[in-house]
Amino acid sequence: MIESIPGLRNTKILVLSILTTLLVIPICSPSTGFSSIIDGSQPSLLNDSNNTISANNNKVVVLSFDDGWDDQYSNAKPILDTYGYKASFSIICEDVEKADHMSWEEINTLEDEGHDIGAHTMTHKVLTEMSPEEMEFEVSESKQCLRDNGIEDVNYFSYPKNEGSADKVVVETVSQYYDLARTGNDPLMYLHCDGFTESTQTDCRTYTEDGELTFVNRYSIMGWSHDSDRMRDSLDDSQTLQMFIEVMNSATNYNMNEGITNAIPIIVYHNVDNTGRNYSTIIDLFESEMRYLHDNEFTVLNMADLGYNENANYLYIKKET
Ligand SMILES: [Zn+2]
Repeated sequence: MIESIPGLRNTKILVLSILTTLLVIPICSPSTGFSSIIDGSQPSLLNDSNNTISANNNKVVVLSFDDGWDDQYSNAKPILDTYGYKASFSIICEDVEKADHMSWEEINTLEDEGHDIGAHTMTHKVLTEMSPEEMEFEVSESKQCLRDNGIEDVNYFSYPKNEGSADKVVVETVSQYYDLARTGNDPLMYLHCDGFTESTQTDCRTYTEDGELTFVNRYSIMGWSHDSDRMRDSLDDSQTLQMFIEVMNSATNYNMNEGITNAIPIIVYHNVDNTGRNYSTIIDLFESEMRYLHDNEFTVLNMADLGYNENANYLYIKKET
């Protein structure tokens, strides 16, 4: 019947093609490296027994919030509390107590309740665009500033705008003060640093034999800014949720294939509110994502749950899950 009505058939094809464009192309955009995850093109991994997470737990995710926005406390934390999830919060020291930002009291409450606090510099300037002295100050003083304000364990550092992890001087400075540092942007972090299409690394050592920085190491742990990917691909909320689910499943499938937990999404959020502005995740979408993790029995970790094996040169999960 449809063949005999060309207009209707064309309409159907047009609708299908629009749907395909909207749903498939943004989600599988090659620029994220995401397409390589869903087509399973990663190299295989070596087995090891130093990963303390149980072998049958292939659903692990790290939740991370950047820049210390007050809506993370007022909007995201109650939802995290509902599910008992503990996240990592990267704080820009000089922004604390400013309008729209968390207070020191709130940040201390987060730490007291088991969340993890990391340093995100003093002023959020790009570290590669300043003098070495200024860069050293931003890196070191932000740790001291957190400590001066009651944060006992400053476990990790995050690079403003993901810039600095490819700069030797910056990494040398970061390594003097922190065990781990996070950058972006990749949907999955491989604990052995060996799943990335951009590199042939087989472990997470920081330097090559020639003394050059490696692509990924303990000071360039990959986070996934899903609100940044959403903006780039102009996704609506349901498409963003679909992208979120696809990334979670890609990690699960990868870990099932390998039999150990190795691929972990480290999801980076900025604002969680209903403004719809750039880098904002609508509260309902955030709720849906957390419910998805809960209903699908994901184990939620934070950066403090990751450790580094200095002998084998890889990251591992410290916490028994
Ligand atoms: Zn930031």
